Amino acid sequence: MLDNATVERLISGYNSPVPRYTSYPTALEFVPLDDAALLDSYRKCEPDRPVSVYIHLPFCENLCLYCGCNVLLSRKIEVLDEYIPLLLAEIKAKTDMMEFKPRVSQLHFGGGTPNFLRLSDWNRLFAGLHQYFAFTPDAELSVELDPAVLSDGYLTHLKQLGFNRVSYGVQDVTPKVLEAVNRPQDVQRIRDIVAESRALGFSSVNLDLIYGLPHQTNESYKANLDFIAELKPERIALFSYAHVPWLKHHQRRMDEKALTEPSEKLKIYLSARQAFAALGYEQIGMDHFGLPGDTLTEAFKNKTLHRNFMGYTTQKTLDMLAFGTSAIGFVSGVYMQNHLKLSGYRSAIETGKNWFEKGFVMSAEDRLRHEVITQLMANFRVRFSDVEQQFGIRFADHFAAELERLKEFAADGHGILDEAGFTTSETGSFIIRHIAAVFDAYRKGSGQKAFSKAI
Ligand code: SF4
Repeated sequence: MLDNATVERLISGYNSPVPRYTSYPTALEFVPLDDAALLDSYRKCEPDRPVSVYIHLPFCENLCLYCGCNVLLSRKIEVLDEYIPLLLAEIKAKTDMMEFKPRVSQLHFGGGTPNFLRLSDWNRLFAGLHQYFAFTPDAELSVELDPAVLSDGYLTHLKQLGFNRVSYGVQDVTPKVLEAVNRPQDVQRIRDIVAESRALGFSSVNLDLIYGLPHQTNESYKANLDFIAELKPERIALFSYAHVPWLKHHQRRMDEKALTEPSEKLKIYLSARQAFAALGYEQIGMDHFGLPGDTLTEAFKNKTLHRNFMGYTTQKTLDMLAFGTSAIGFVSGVYMQNHLKLSGYRSAIETGKNWFEKGFVMSAEDRLRHEVITQLMANFRVRFSDVEQQFGIRFADHFAAELERLKEFAADGHGILDEAGFTTSETGSFIIRHIAAVFDAYRKGSGQKAFSKAI
């Protein structure tokens, strides 16, 4: 456990905006992307390499004030009568551009609230998915669900469709906090849903928590830790609340004075980490925890964890095909983001052109830096020989200036730098975003307001 002086030192030195590096370059660097990039990147896909598929289901009935996702608010279920056919048309059009039927080893549905869909919508969607994709026998099928609006029989249906992993947004169990962020939910209902998920045979249940919300204190947060001890999910995601009201205007409706102070926020994180360790969880990267035997836990232990727009993943450089409004795909070194607004998305599908809001074609240098940043963010270390072999460079020559910065982090006690590489210390793991940022060639001080603070 860090002492108070160390906590204060980390906050005064490093509580500044910095990317979370779910991509490199970050989405801030994305620029208008023409359709040729789509065809080019898809043609480079190799038939024998499975792909990951992400499908964005953007609708929510209610807006949580902390939300940082791309959401379309709607109480009208009929919006799905347009959206599901559009999704299927997009999947057909894009998979038609490939010369083979892609094999999928990971399929993830995020949102929004995926359980906004009716059961009949899932049937329609899965009929299309099986038509356009082949699934590997051990494919991971996962979905994010909002327990507050999960109807009876829903989980049974998802299990029958083949889902094996579920993730529930809990965020906090304290009524005062939930009220302050406009997220009504019944905690007993979550207990029942987790029990039902287990009874149905889902192999992994993940619960999401957030710290840094209004009225949370180290003391009040114990209710969440007790809740985790009671339910013992296979995985926990413990996200730091990103307060960016200049980007997400609805966050202005939150009482800023009630937000948790940075030092209290770090204490909550440290207490949670300690409580999860006592329960047998192992830390995975910055903000995930898993029970021994979980695939992410094992990947972190073996230093083979990777990172993409979905967060941490066990599978390296899987091309990610992404569908739905605002979804970001990554294929053969090209990031491609779909239109954010339904009107732009609809128009792209109807005309078969102007597919993207924006994107980015990576250079060889971007790929090299992406690898170093990913190693640091996912495994808290970078081994120079691995990078040298993969990219044919001499690390000490190519990154001479960056190594000087790493020396400073090492001198401050945030890691060990030797001839083999750089490995973070305990304090270094708290400021890993800052350490990774050393290798970000685009981070020159401008546009920093686009990112949340590190702590
Ligand atoms: S349910 Fe999730 S996606 Fe929808 S508003 Fe709340 S936080 Fe955002």
